[in-house]
Amino acid sequence: MYKSPNKQTIRFIRNGLIGWGKKNYRKFPWRHTKSKFHALIAEILLQRTKADQVLPVYKVFTAKYKTPYSLSKARLAEIKKAIKSLGLLWRAGLIKKLAVVLSRGKSIACDYHELLKLPAVGPYVASAFSSFHCNKFRSIIDSNVVRLYGRLFGVKTGPETRRSKFMYDLANLMTPQKAFKAYNYAVLDHTAAICVSKPRCEICPIKKECRYYFRRGGYYGKK
Ligand code: SF4
Repeated sequence: MYKSPNKQTIRFIRNGLIGWGKKNYRKFPWRHTKSKFHALIAEILLQRTKADQVLPVYKVFTAKYKTPYSLSKARLAEIKKAIKSLGLLWRAGLIKKLAVVLSRGKSIACDYHELLKLPAVGPYVASAFSSFHCNKFRSIIDSNVVRLYGRLFGVKTGPETRRSKFMYDLANLMTPQKAFKAYNYAVLDHTAAICVSKPRCEICPIKKECRYYFRRGGYYGKK
């Protein structure tokens, strides 16, 4: 049965993930770009797509389309071709619409609700953009994050869990108010390298507080 984590557990998990992250953060150009436009494009491409797959596409895309205006002038077929290897081709039309809106003078706001008004921007993209590129507190929820929290706290999850209020509240509880950016990057990177579909529990820094690990007999402490 699910038990809301106490302060000690939350602190342990936060510190464990951030500590791991400091030694293992992945380096991607969108994490350091000064272009809000390119950062937003990156977050759109990263939605439901592995970062390693996005990397070559992002490099070509941003070299070709430096501004919303240049992208707004591209033919849809061209955009589709550029992102073809990532699948989810419906994004191409929305990316073009976004470029058109931005090229007409609409700015990329840092406010979560304003971001949601832009084409191609849903809750995941708005949260990631606010947290990583605007330094505003937001928790991040994608299917990997759901898998992590589901395992940590022994919660059954499904395809719709990422949209549930339960997951939203849990992610908000776990995400620190100040070090949210470090934590969110650590969660994304840990779920891409350690808490993967076949989890690498033996080298996981937070296994001591993980119900999944405990249930598989990996930890014999009090649970
Ligand atoms: S102990 Fe295993 S299942 Fe638990 S968070 Fe770490 S990698 Fe994931």
